[in-house]
Amino acid sequence: MTRIWWRGKNAGTLKRGGLVEVIEAKPNLDDIGGLECLKRWLSQRRPAFGAAARDYGLPVPKGLLIVGIPGTGKSLIAKATASVLQLPLLRLDMGRVFGGIVGQSEANLRSVIRTAEAVAPCVLWVDELDKACSGMAGSGGSDGGTSSRVFGSLLSWMQEKIKPVFVVATANDVSQLPPELLRTGRFDSMFFVDLPDAKERTSIWEIVIAGHHRDPRSCDLTALSKETEGFTGAEIEGAYREALHEAFAEGREPTPDDIHTAIAATTPVAKLMKERIEALRKWAKGRARDANTATSLADATSRPSRRVQSMN
Ligand code: ATP
Repeated sequence: MTRIWWRGKNAGTLKRGGLVEVIEAKPNLDDIGGLECLKRWLSQRRPAFGAAARDYGLPVPKGLLIVGIPGTGKSLIAKATASVLQLPLLRLDMGRVFGGIVGQSEANLRSVIRTAEAVAPCVLWVDELDKACSGMAGSGGSDGGTSSRVFGSLLSWMQEKIKPVFVVATANDVSQLPPELLRTGRFDSMFFVDLPDAKERTSIWEIVIAGHHRDPRSCDLTALSKETEGFTGAEIEGAYREALHEAFAEGREPTPDDIHTAIAATTPVAKLMKERIEALRKWAKGRARDANTATSLADATSRPSRRVQSMN
């Protein structure tokens, strides 16, 4: 039976350009290179959404907070969560919640919550949570307390919600996140996504090349991984696309030279944001789980540091 939840009284919230967007195209875990620890966690949690888990005495899973370096696949994993859990995916743009006349932001959030609960069971992806926090008093912003009130309501709902809405929040700038957000009980777990290591980059290259309808076996993936040390997944994809454009303009297939040239022309975020990345790793140590590997964060933080240092 086709569900017609989007025709209800919250349809305005869901329509194109509304507060919440329905994401139809959802990647699978196989479309994501690396992030093995986070993938394993998601796969293990899947049965926790079923009735058997309630009978067993387990609470409904609340959600996941994913913080990390831009372009490392946080959005991909947020979307893949809905595939793993086989649930509809709603994306909330927190930026759209704020604005308008006095009281509008609070009303917007209530509308979002009503919509998510009407669609439940579902995954609600709160994208760029950090940007929404930037107006809060604690982060130096001032908007007459609107951000704090909206956040307070969001947090209370997350704490108390009964309907099966699994919240996946993604953020880059942890300095903007209020401490109360990180308190136990809001999320089931918090993961930190670091730059991919050599093995993860090999796997990302393979996925990216195959995703552009070409045979990854035609490339030396190990060499490409080595050459892109310190690159994010988004930068690897960007370099490959650039090589494709170059070749397409000349009516031929991309050569290893095209790819090398595109890689050489890329300045990775690891180099541009070295200090911010180090600060992010420091913050994550002891607070968040390492999404990339099963190694402890203590090991992981020293490993990628060397990666970045080696680029200078
Ligand atoms: P931002 O914080 O800037 O929003 P992000 O961490 O959410 O970035 P994504 O938007 O998920 O990063 O990644 C951008 C693109 O880079 C993806 O659509 C994908 O094509 C590629 N990519 C990034 N990481 C991976 C990965 N681990 N495996 C495969 N592709 C990846």
